[in-house]
Amino acid sequence: MREATYIWMDGELVPWGEARVHVLTHALHYGTAVFEGTRVFTTPDGPAVFRLEDHLARLVRSARMIGLALPYSVDELRAATLETVAANGHAACYIRHLAHRGHGEMGIAARRCPTVVSVATWEWPPLLGTSGVRLMTSSWRRNDHRVVPVAAKATGPYLNSVLAKDEAMAAGYDEAVLLNAAGYVSECTGANLFVVRDGRLLTPPPGAGALDGITQDTLERLAADLGVPAVRQDLMRTDLYAADEILLCGTGAGVVHVSAVDGRELGGPGPVTERLADAYDAVTHGRDDRHRHWLTPVPAS
Ligand code: PMP
Repeated sequence: MREATYIWMDGELVPWGEARVHVLTHALHYGTAVFEGTRVFTTPDGPAVFRLEDHLARLVRSARMIGLALPYSVDELRAATLETVAANGHAACYIRHLAHRGHGEMGIAARRCPTVVSVATWEWPPLLGTSGVRLMTSSWRRNDHRVVPVAAKATGPYLNSVLAKDEAMAAGYDEAVLLNAAGYVSECTGANLFVVRDGRLLTPPPGAGALDGITQDTLERLAADLGVPAVRQDLMRTDLYAADEILLCGTGAGVVHVSAVDGRELGGPGPVTERLADAYDAVTHGRDDRHRHWLTPVPAS
């Protein structure tokens, strides 16, 4: 991770080291924040943000789901995003939007704490590498929609991901896949999962406990372009063992193949994964005219 010069915080760019919060911040105690992870890619026309409108729309939805009032409009958030990327002079980077309950009155009641919004950027390589992910089925179950809003990208529920990730890494794996309370596959700790079986792309349905991933949606649309049928259906743990290919996708991870699940080797990357990864690379880097509307150019600062 390479630090940037500025972070946007509540309306202004502040030097990276001065973007601080109080230790009695509500979100620090109770997990009351929503966030986004978005990427800027290099394109022939300069840096561009991939699916910025969709990420901002999900931020707004996440905030509504946890009852957090956002003090900025989407137009203001878009402007803040582009201003921050430009001020930091990135050719490519990761963007972290965060809206958190700040420091007000102590106690669980959140309404007396103001919402603080920040936009930070840094340069970050693909988070799970590119050489294949060794996956472990977690002993932790995925957050359940009857307990927390699983479709909200809210910080509190991420403790579930942190526990699973740490468990997998301590056991010598790269990443964990979580089953939901009903025993079906949901997703990984920071990425959605697809199984390839008999030329079809399978991923868990809404309600399985996974985030509605923007990369997941992108790959389903690219699969349609490539004539690969994509289906949302419940997947059992053994569907992972019987898969022809498994791939993970997310803004941080990009598109990466799974090389083994619970010690069962898959090798890879398989042909469908390779075609999707190439298509994703082309669309994010502005080499696919059909989906150019997904790219928002970063103005020169
Ligand atoms: N699931 C989880 C738990 C995640 O943290 C992420 C990363 N945001 C994803 C899936 C992938 O979502 P997206 O493609 O929108 O980045």
